[in-house]
Amino acid sequence: MEGEIRARFAPSPTGLLHIGNVHTAIFTWLFVRHNQGKFILRIEDTDRSRSTQEYEEMLLDDLAWLGLDWDEGVDVGGPYGPYRQTERMELYRHYAQKLLAEGWAYECYCSQEELEAERARAVQEGRAPRYSGRCRKLTDEEREAYRKVGRRPVIRFKTPPGEQIVVKDLIRGEITFNTSDLDDFIIVRSNGMPLYNFAVTIDDLTMKISHIVRADEHISNTPRQLLIYRALGETPPVFAHVSMLLGPDRSKLSKRHGATSLREYREKGYLPDAIFNYLAILGWSLPDDREFATREELIRLFDLTRVSRAPAVFDPEKAAWMNGVYIRQMDLDTLTDLALPFFQKAGQITADRDVDRQWLQGVIDLVRDGVTSLSQLPAAAELFFEAEPSYEEQALAVLQKEGVREVLVEYRERIPQWPSFDPETVATEMKRVPKDLGLSVGKALRPLRAALTGRVSGPELNYIVSLLGKEAVLARLEYVINNLLT
Ligand code: GLU
Ligand code: ZN
Repeated sequence: MEGEIRARFAPSPTGLLHIGNVHTAIFTWLFVRHNQGKFILRIEDTDRSRSTQEYEEMLLDDLAWLGLDWDEGVDVGGPYGPYRQTERMELYRHYAQKLLAEGWAYECYCSQEELEAERARAVQEGRAPRYSGRCRKLTDEEREAYRKVGRRPVIRFKTPPGEQIVVKDLIRGEITFNTSDLDDFIIVRSNGMPLYNFAVTIDDLTMKISHIVRADEHISNTPRQLLIYRALGETPPVFAHVSMLLGPDRSKLSKRHGATSLREYREKGYLPDAIFNYLAILGWSLPDDREFATREELIRLFDLTRVSRAPAVFDPEKAAWMNGVYIRQMDLDTLTDLALPFFQKAGQITADRDVDRQWLQGVIDLVRDGVTSLSQLPAAAELFFEAEPSYEEQALAVLQKEGVREVLVEYRERIPQWPSFDPETVATEMKRVPKDLGLSVGKALRPLRAALTGRVSGPELNYIVSLLGKEAVLARLEYVINNLLT
């Protein structure tokens, strides 16, 4: 490939970033990073009624969270800015004038009613409802007359009839379109706002984009964009249309399948690396069909031409599973940083009730095996934060068994004398009680677990005891002995 690789992600700030868009953005980013090119973030905000500043901010924030850093874009600037479409109006005007002057475009003064009447007639006569091109032939006088009565024109592209336009796509091969199926599409509205196909082409051209990686829903737009490049005498970029994601039922990924925005996953406590890894292997596979890879490996191995044409299925359960794997493998210190806000949100850590970092790490390490997202950590760690555990049915039943009082009283006697409270010592000391009383280990540890945690199963008991600490352990034993035994 010649010259610098320059590819862009061009979202519209009209909502939260959709997982499908993120998927395409990841492929674009991997492609750029693999080729040491430039990743450009352009904001397509010409739809004034739906674009907002808040959405733009969230979009930037979510991309940064995911680690998709950009080399040029709205906030960081760059040599081909501005990178927000509404700030590029002068450019669109310039190129629209050029197309008009060179006869590739023309003003159309048709009113809404006239266009509708034309459409209705076409349908009635069994023709495709397409703009007839009647304003192509307007004389200067006719245009002047329209202007006099207050009509303001749109600008239409003069699509040549009966030509084959071939889109050469890196992923899908050659796709041929016939221009007779395209009409004279509008490139600028009567209020001066450029339309998608025109704005995107002018931007890609002037930003020197070498590769357009985008969702396949835009394939039908590509021949129109190619026509504009040709009219301007420019060589178009290379195209790569990525298939959209499907839900597990193989219909288009939507709300019905659960969370569909990156932000929702972020708020649920998904790790950026896990989301990144999972989306990177949808519709593309590592050479040896491995599923886990670091970003560095993904960058090194990514190959756009090996992206599948078939749509990939986004499976929320698999995403959760993968996130769980990442949570279990993550360096504990980093994990604790990421988990902290979730404990704060759950009210388990507050300004008034700060906790020892070392201790919190121990708690997280103990319960992380059982969760698939960070938001599940507070519930999984609940027994370490409540003053008294809530006792579930089965635990109460265990506590009603014969001999339980003797066991728990024995623990209450001995625990103050334990030489230390680290997990190893606790493990040894815990087992001394059944031995000395002539009981099986389970006969002592089952009621102890029930008494201390209110549950019949959970992480290893010696760790729980160690993290609860002597004071809390004795308080819980006292409470159970006095209130819950028969
Ligand atoms: N703003 C368009 C979108 O979000 C960009 C399409 C393109 O990449 O050409 O779909
Ligand atoms: Zn017209």
